[in-house]
Amino acid sequence: MSVQLGIPQPREGGTPVPGAQPLPAARPADAPEGLADRYGRRATDMRLSLTDKCNLRCTYCMPAEGLEWLAKQAVMSAAEIIRIVGIGVDLLGVRELRLTGGEPLVRADLIDIIAALRQAHPELPISMTTNGVGLDKKAAALKAAGLTRINVSLDSLHEETFTKLTRRPFLDRVLAGVDAAWAAGLGPVKINAVLMRGINDAESPSLLAWALERGYELRFIEQMPLDADHGWTRRDMITASEIRELLSAEYVLSPDPRERDGAPAERFEVRRRVAGSVEAAGPVLGTVGIIASVTEPFCSDCRRTRITAEGKIMSCLFSREEIDLLGLLREGAGDQQLAERWQDAMWIKPKAHGMDHVGLDAPDFVQPDRSMSAIGG
Ligand code: SAM
Ligand code: SF4
Repeated sequence: MSVQLGIPQPREGGTPVPGAQPLPAARPADAPEGLADRYGRRATDMRLSLTDKCNLRCTYCMPAEGLEWLAKQAVMSAAEIIRIVGIGVDLLGVRELRLTGGEPLVRADLIDIIAALRQAHPELPISMTTNGVGLDKKAAALKAAGLTRINVSLDSLHEETFTKLTRRPFLDRVLAGVDAAWAAGLGPVKINAVLMRGINDAESPSLLAWALERGYELRFIEQMPLDADHGWTRRDMITASEIRELLSAEYVLSPDPRERDGAPAERFEVRRRVAGSVEAAGPVLGTVGIIASVTEPFCSDCRRTRITAEGKIMSCLFSREEIDLLGLLREGAGDQQLAERWQDAMWIKPKAHGMDHVGLDAPDFVQPDRSMSAIGG
């Protein structure tokens, strides 16, 4: 029986996956400090996956039957996470940390991990991306442990649509989680929504109205080819320009004057549309973000470095190379040696993911083996 895997089989150090480009030249001795790459970028924003497990089955991420989960011993322990984050922050210039998964809330030692990270790095902004299931019970403890702020993923406010998209009837629990996060002081609360054609795209203006009323910052994310089912098609995905069009039926969007500063989301100020005219649109109600990774990519200003739940370094969501950091750590490597491996891994970060100008069938874009849940989005 073939098992569906969200996670490729373990690979040695920098061994390329089949079909990948050969590894580029090694990092030169005079390479810049920190997590620099060959194209002049420097990663300062770390995304760390706490687990590959999840209690939802979003159609754009996981198959209905789930994935084969990693064995417990393959996943980074709390102590290993603390050490890896410490190397990133203390030796390599990491300036912000986002905890993700899988679903970070399913990890039993989550609060302890955050408390230890906070103790080690009092000033570090630590955020978390979650599906919100169970957040109502943990929001206050997360805040007390030192979490700075939170992103909750929510694609629909309609029970039926939510259940269709996530394959679980948990809308009420997610809404309770969002409220609890706000009440606990985990703001600004950001809401991540992926639009799917014919399923929740028409709901985009009402999702925005809901977020604006409550002071949440909604961000629409273009669906990327990172679903375990490999069902993504360019024709079906809702593009950033379509999102702007959908919202413009009720709202007028104008570019947010604040610096984007490497943020994946392009932010817009939102005014209500009155009689179809920008001038008559009234006061700014809030902002909305659009993360157009596919059609308007921001690779040239990317500042992200990713660590998967089993301690592999991924320089890009679409990277075909994974470099094992945890294995080296478990062999007894020192911090400096681990830092150098991380630098080597980031040095070969691709210039761009390539899916904006070529089809999925084109030779220079191959959908990664990992699903979003197995990378850590
Ligand atoms: N389980 C948590 C959650 O859903 O928020 C954290 C992990 S999830 C992989 C992180 C983010 O990735 C979510 O906001 C989710 O909507 C987004 N995501 C997952 N699959 C995606 C895809 N194929 N394209 C775009 N975004 C995706
Ligand atoms: Fe789970 Fe998040 Fe993937 Fe949905 S997007 S299946 S909540 S990991």
